[in-house]
Amino acid sequence: MSNKISLTFCGGVEEVTGANFLFELEEGDRVHRVLIDCGLTQGTESMEAKNSNPFPYDPTQIDFLFVTHAHMDHIGRVPQLVKEGFRGRIMSTGETKELALPMLEDALRLLEEDSRRKGILPLYEKKDVENALSLWEGVPYETSREIFTGVFVTARDAGHILGSAMFEFSIDSKIYSNGNHEKIRVLFTGDLGNSPSPLLKDTERVKGINYMIMESVYGDRNHESRHLRRELLKEAILESIKKKGTLLIPSFSLEKTQVLLYEMNYLVEKGEVPAVPVFLDSPLAIKITEIYKRNHKNFNEEARRAIEGGDDILRFPKLKFTPSRMQSEMIATTPNPKIIIAGGGMSTGGRITKHERMYLGGRENTILFIGYQSAGSLGRQIEEGVDRVQIDGEEVIVRAKVVTIIGYSSHKDLDHLVEFVEYSADTLKKVFVVMGEPKASMFLAQRIKDYIGVEAIHPEEGETIELS
Ligand SMILES: [Zn+2]
Repeated sequence: MSNKISLTFCGGVEEVTGANFLFELEEGDRVHRVLIDCGLTQGTESMEAKNSNPFPYDPTQIDFLFVTHAHMDHIGRVPQLVKEGFRGRIMSTGETKELALPMLEDALRLLEEDSRRKGILPLYEKKDVENALSLWEGVPYETSREIFTGVFVTARDAGHILGSAMFEFSIDSKIYSNGNHEKIRVLFTGDLGNSPSPLLKDTERVKGINYMIMESVYGDRNHESRHLRRELLKEAILESIKKKGTLLIPSFSLEKTQVLLYEMNYLVEKGEVPAVPVFLDSPLAIKITEIYKRNHKNFNEEARRAIEGGDDILRFPKLKFTPSRMQSEMIATTPNPKIIIAGGGMSTGGRITKHERMYLGGRENTILFIGYQSAGSLGRQIEEGVDRVQIDGEEVIVRAKVVTIIGYSSHKDLDHLVEFVEYSADTLKKVFVVMGEPKASMFLAQRIKDYIGVEAIHPEEGETIELS
């Protein structure tokens, strides 16, 4: 009779996106299988080709899928998993489930466009999204539930985006690893928020963890200070207005856009920048902003108090939402200076590319990156300063000023990741550093070993490790 607990790193290793971890609990010949996240790999076409590979496990044999948050690199393959036979239960916070619907619908639209262009079958269809949502349950934070005998799961606030959770598994080691009566506690961090956030509550401090599977997007560098990031944003806006240009901001629809609206609301209301036309040109970001507003009870105290006092913290004069195509086309007729916020955040699709074609060639214009640009993406090429790019098959010369502000990241930076691990330093046996580019994961693992004295590794894709 073999009892064991093992962990397989199916995706989201040696890269930021494509999170997918298999957690197996064996009790004699019974094996319980749990997945944590089932995300799309994003970036270059060759990276994205991985999304059509078969899953490295049998989806029909999975009992539970826990979803840490609603970003595509964590939920994007959920409908595909259901299409391939998954009939277990999906669990996330209620807010993540609410956000998953527009996110998956938007992904479906992009998949359909892509498959039409390439003449291939899409990864999944509308009915797979509907089936996925029918298996999906919202669970509150801080409520422990028993999913198998002796296995309890608790969602803890990750502070990364609305609804984001870490999942803590507390496992009776007597049942699953021939151990004594002690519990084994395993924490999957998902993405960890850059707390304090202007809108969200702080990342919860978790203690008593034995094994941690943690993200490392910014595992090798620190962000600018909070004060500096707002100053840099203000500077970019003022300079663009002075040059009578267009300020383009490619923005991720979920979280980044809402934080940006909050910051602009602050700068405009305090009179630090003049009110010029600002367009939110993303149907998805508009829908998500509405979901944020509906869920303001989950915001931090300061944001909640402002809203309850009557301030719409995500709205300010001259901000226009342009959900329809027609409204989007009309943006070009508005004279400069103006600001356009559009998706996608890495310029790999969405309305931003249309604006990039139109505005990148003008020296009076500015493109401002406030989010992570994945290696090989169009955003990364522009950010790295190439003088011409291909957009939708057309060569575009880049003369616009390129500005990057990394302080708006919704991920913890190096020092804060290390600090997060430190809370559990006295009980930790091992940290698995994942969801980062190789050099970031390696750097963070080394830093954890050197500074905290805890064993830390960066596993390879497909590697299985037994926990004891
Ligand atoms: Zn995320």
